[in-house]
Amino acid sequence: MRIRGIRLIVTIFMAAIVLFIAAAGLIFRLNNFKIEFSVPTGETDTVEYGSEYLSPQVDAFVVGKIFYKTGKKIKIQRDGAVDTKTLGTYKLTWSAQGVGAENSGVRTVNVVDTTPPEILLQPYSKDFIYTNEEYIEPGYTATDAADGDLTSAVIVEGIDTSSPGDKEIVYTVTDKSGNSATVSRTITVKEKPKPKPVVVVSPPDAVPTTDPAVAPDAIPAPEVVTPAPANGGVIYLTFDDGPSIYTAQLLDVLAKYGVKATFFVTGRGDRSLITRAAAEGHSIGIHSLTHNYSQIYSSEDAFLADIDAMNEIIMQQTGSYTNILRFPGGSSNTISRKYCPGIMSRLANILTERGFVYFDWNVLSGDAGGTKNTGTVYTNVINGIRGKAHSVVLQHDTKSFSVNAVESIVVWGLNNGYTFAPLNAGSPTVHQRINN
Ligand SMILES: [Zn+2]
Repeated sequence: MRIRGIRLIVTIFMAAIVLFIAAAGLIFRLNNFKIEFSVPTGETDTVEYGSEYLSPQVDAFVVGKIFYKTGKKIKIQRDGAVDTKTLGTYKLTWSAQGVGAENSGVRTVNVVDTTPPEILLQPYSKDFIYTNEEYIEPGYTATDAADGDLTSAVIVEGIDTSSPGDKEIVYTVTDKSGNSATVSRTITVKEKPKPKPVVVVSPPDAVPTTDPAVAPDAIPAPEVVTPAPANGGVIYLTFDDGPSIYTAQLLDVLAKYGVKATFFVTGRGDRSLITRAAAEGHSIGIHSLTHNYSQIYSSEDAFLADIDAMNEIIMQQTGSYTNILRFPGGSSNTISRKYCPGIMSRLANILTERGFVYFDWNVLSGDAGGTKNTGTVYTNVINGIRGKAHSVVLQHDTKSFSVNAVESIVVWGLNNGYTFAPLNAGSPTVHQRINN
């Protein structure tokens, strides 16, 4: 009897357990647990080439009513990565399983290039050319963040010297993602004057004193007046905004090749480098004490006070004043108009009266904003130099990537028969058009 009684109890107990499990399973099922993610799946992100993509932080959690509270975190497996330096489509996936459920999600990330390439034109040094005279392209480069150098893909249209007038030369380039850039320059074509009858018989004993860089614009046959130097042209390397922490390295490179350059200096940086540059045979010119546009271009007096103070520093460092200068922003800058209309035209006259010679440039390195790449600086400079008798190259010794291009530029110049020279008041002045 006792054994039977125990059996009955055990049977009832077992049945209760089975019932309980069945009921729990049913509740579990009815409860319909789900796994959800903290970030929606199936979405697509678009990211610009080279920018930073932050993958969303995805968590998996339970949605249910009993046993597990909604929001309980579940272990998640995440896969996939995005390389914004390579155009294309990427998939980020995640999956999680537990509580009798599973779920997975995907996010698509398209790395795209919507930034158009940049075209940099070397300045054209002539004010006009005559009808049917050959237009010599001063050079250009095109670079794209995603595609790199696109110079060879530039389409140039509108070169026409067959008739007089203003002609717009249009440069267009399209990158692999279909983004286009267009820039243009206008050249003035003038009717070629009729040759005058030859009546002058006096011998050509007068030595032309015309400024060689200006002469080609004014005289129809510039090669007669300024023959190009026999072994290629003259390169005037100029460096603005220093001294800086890169100036010593630059001076070392120039010394290695015995090349002299010009430093348009500011009040910033280690002034003993001005002393060193001068001692090593480089020219020192004034750029600006403060290089603060709103201050120096607020009035003629403000500008003159700034450059006089800079010249005092140059005197202290080198033992002599300089009489060469480069305007911050160049003589053609338009930013000064904001502070003082007409100031550039007046300053150009005042400086000339005071015995200063100012220099702009006719070869751009692009280091002021066009590029941050040493190879591009090198390409811009040598493309700009090619075919010029006198090249005044603009670089900044405050930029390491630009300073790093100098040795290659020097080697290229020397190998191609060019001479390097420092600027002085008697050098060919390269002037841009004053716009204010
Ligand atoms: Zn500057």
